[in-house]
Amino acid sequence: MSIRIKLTILMLLIGLVPTLIVSAIAYITISSGLTRKTAEQLVSTAIKQEQRINGLLQKRQEEAIELSNKFDLQRTLGMYLTNKQAKEQLSAILLAKKIATPDIQTIHLADLKGKIIVSTNRDVEGTQLDPQDFALAAGQEISTGVRKDQRDGIDKLYITAKVNVNKTESGVVSVVFRIDDIIAALQDYTGLGTTGETVVAEKTQDGTVVSLFPLRFDADAPQKTNVSSLQLFAPAGQQDYKELTDYRGKQVMVAAKSIGFADWVIAAKIDTSEALAQIDQLRNLLFIIVLTSSGAIVLIALGLTRFFTQPILQIATIARRIGRGDFLARTFVRRNDEIGMLAESINAMGISLDTFVTSIESQRNRLEVILNSTKEGILAIDKQGMIVLVNQAAAEMARLDSDKLVGKNINDIFAWTQQGQPFTADYAPANSAVYEDLEFTNVAGATSYVKLIVARVSGEQEQKAAQTIVTIHDETRDRELEAMKVDFVSMAAHELRTPLAAIRGYLELITFKGGQGVASDDTSKYLQQALKSSTELGGLINNLLDVTRIERGTLTFNLENVDIAADVKQAVEEATFSARDKKITVVYQGATEGCFVIADRIALHEVINNLISNAIKYTPEGGKVSVLLGVQGADYRVQVTDTGVGIPKQSQSNLFTKFYRVHGGLDSGSTGTGLGLFIAKSLIERQGGTITFSSEEGKGSTFIITLPKADTITPSAPQSKVTAIRRQHGWTTQNITR
Ligand code: ADP
Repeated sequence: MSIRIKLTILMLLIGLVPTLIVSAIAYITISSGLTRKTAEQLVSTAIKQEQRINGLLQKRQEEAIELSNKFDLQRTLGMYLTNKQAKEQLSAILLAKKIATPDIQTIHLADLKGKIIVSTNRDVEGTQLDPQDFALAAGQEISTGVRKDQRDGIDKLYITAKVNVNKTESGVVSVVFRIDDIIAALQDYTGLGTTGETVVAEKTQDGTVVSLFPLRFDADAPQKTNVSSLQLFAPAGQQDYKELTDYRGKQVMVAAKSIGFADWVIAAKIDTSEALAQIDQLRNLLFIIVLTSSGAIVLIALGLTRFFTQPILQIATIARRIGRGDFLARTFVRRNDEIGMLAESINAMGISLDTFVTSIESQRNRLEVILNSTKEGILAIDKQGMIVLVNQAAAEMARLDSDKLVGKNINDIFAWTQQGQPFTADYAPANSAVYEDLEFTNVAGATSYVKLIVARVSGEQEQKAAQTIVTIHDETRDRELEAMKVDFVSMAAHELRTPLAAIRGYLELITFKGGQGVASDDTSKYLQQALKSSTELGGLINNLLDVTRIERGTLTFNLENVDIAADVKQAVEEATFSARDKKITVVYQGATEGCFVIADRIALHEVINNLISNAIKYTPEGGKVSVLLGVQGADYRVQVTDTGVGIPKQSQSNLFTKFYRVHGGLDSGSTGTGLGLFIAKSLIERQGGTITFSSEEGKGSTFIITLPKADTITPSAPQSKVTAIRRQHGWTTQNITR
C-alpha cells in the first residue's frame, strides 16, 4: 500500500473519529429528546381526552342523579306505589327531562324488581329491565355502563340511579344516553400527526374497542381490533408510553389512560416511524455530514499527500532510470525541505555515477585498444565457459567476428589438439595453467601452433562475470622462423663441410710433405696454424650440424654396449696434452675398464670430451682437473671437477641454453660457441642419462653425468626413454631413430 493511501486513511481516521463521536452524541441526545417529546405529546393527548370524557360522563351522572333526586319524581313515585294514579305524571316528568336533555335517548323508571313502571318509550312499560340496568351493587347509589343497544346495535351510556321515596329505596331510574358527543370528543386527535389514532376500549382482558378514530387505515378496524388494556399500560416505574404493534402490524407508540366512570381505557397512538421521523431525518443528516466530511477529508488528504508523495515518486522514477543506466537523468524537484535534499542527493549521485562510468568507459576503451593491439589472443570466459570478452587477435585466429564469439562456449570455438589428438584444457584451474604445443585449426582450415595460458580471476565472481582469462600465444610464426633458421644453419654447415674437408685435406697433405722440406719453417708453422683453425672450424660445423639434427629430431644413435671406464680414461689421456700447455694437472680416479653402459660410443665420447676440455679451458694455469668414475645406484657416474673460474649464480640457469656463454667476452681470451653443453645435455639425455653441475664463482665447477648400467636395463629401454624425451621436447623431434 502506498504512503499516499496510508496517509489518507490515517487522516480520514483522525478527522472522522471526532465527527463520529459528536454525531453519535448528538444523535442519542436529540433522538431521546424527541422520543421524550413524542411520548409527552401522546400522554398529554390521552390525559386531555380522558379528562374530557370523564367530564362528559360526570355531567351525565349528575343529570341522572339530579333526576332521581327530583322531588316531584319521588313524590309521584310514592303516589304511584300506593294508588297507581300518578303514572301519567311520572311519564310527564320523564318526558320533560328527555326533552330538556337532547342526549337522553330513553328514561325508564322501574320498581325494585326491575319492572318498568314508566318509560319515555311507552312500549316498554310493564316489561322487565335488563338486570344490569337496575341491579346496583350493595352500597352503591349509581352505576354507569356503556353497552350496545340491543335494538340499534349502537353503544349507549346506561346510568342507573336509586330513587328513594321517603328515604326508602323504592325504585330505580335508568337513563340511556347517546354517546355521540363522547365519541365526538374522542375524535379530537390533535397533535397525533398523520398516523395518530385514538382508541377507546373496554377495560377488560379482551379490550373490545369502543371507538377508534379517525380510522385512517381501515374502516372495519374497530370490529376487527381488540385492545388488551393490560397491554396498553406501561409497567409502573418505567416510561409512560409503550411501543406496540397495532392492528396493521405496524410499530406504534401508545399512551393510555383509564376512564374511571366507564371502565374504559383511552389510548392515543402514533406510528413510531412518524413520531421518530425527525430522528430518521437527523440520522440521515448526520450520515450526510459524516459522508461529506469524509469526502472532504479524503480530498484534502489526497491533495496534501500528493504535495509530498508526488515529488518522492518523481525522485523514485529518476532513481530507477539512473539504476537502469540512464546516468544523465535528473530530477527537477526543488524544495527547501528533506524531499529537496533527497532530490539533490539523487542528482549528485547521478553526476558521480556518470563521471564514474565515463572514466570506466574510457579505461575500458583504453583496455580495448590495448587488448586489440596485442598479438596475443585474449579471451575472458565465465563459469560456464561462455565467452564474455574476446580481442581481435583471438577472433582473427578463429576467423570469426568477435561479436559472434561473445556468448559462445569456448570449447565450441577453440577445439585444441596436441599431436593430432583432441586436447581438453581445464579452464577452471586453481590458479593458472599453461598448455604448450597445442594446435588449433580454424574454420578456414588454417592450423596454428599455440601456447595456452589459463589464469583464474581472483575473488568470487558472479555467474556471468569473467571467471578465467585465456591467453593464446600463437607460436606458428616463431616455429616457422626457427625452422627456417635451423634449415639455413644446416644448409650452410653442409655447404661448408665439403670445401672445408678439401682445404683440410690439402693442408694435411702440404704439412705432411712440409716435413720433407717442401716449405720453409715459417711457412710450415703457418700451415700448421691453418690446419688447426680448419680443424676447429670443422668442429664448429659439426657442432652446428649436431644442433640442427637435435632440433629437427634427425639425430640418430648407434646404441651399443660401451665401456664407459675405458672411454673416460681415453678422454683424460687425450686432454692431458692440452692441459700440459696450460700447466694444469689432470687426474683420473676410477676403474679403467669393465663399466658398461648402453650408449652411442661417439656421442658419449663427445660429451665426456666436452666436459674435460671445458674444465681445462676455464681453469687458469696451474689449476687442477679431477675426473672421477663411480657408481650411483643403478648408474655409472662421471664427475669432472676443476679449480677454475666457476660460473656466476645468475648464469647457472642458462648454462645448457644454445649459444649461451658466460666466459665469452672479448677480453676473456677463451674461444667457443656456447653449443657444447647444449649438445652434451641433448646427447646424454637422449641416451637415457642425466647431466648436472654445481659451481662457485672463483673456486671451480663440478659437472656430473650419469648413465644407467648396461646390465640394469632391457635392450628396449633406451628406445622408450628416447621416445619419452622426444615427447617432452616437442615438435621437431619426430624422426628420431636408433
Ligand atoms: P663454449 O664453447 O663456450 O665452451 P659450452 O656450451 O661448452 O660452450 O659452455 C658454455 C659456457 O659455460 C662457456 O662459455 C663457459 O662460460 C661456461 N662453462 C662451461 N664449462 C665451464 C667450467 N668448467 N667452468 C667455468 N665455466 C664453464
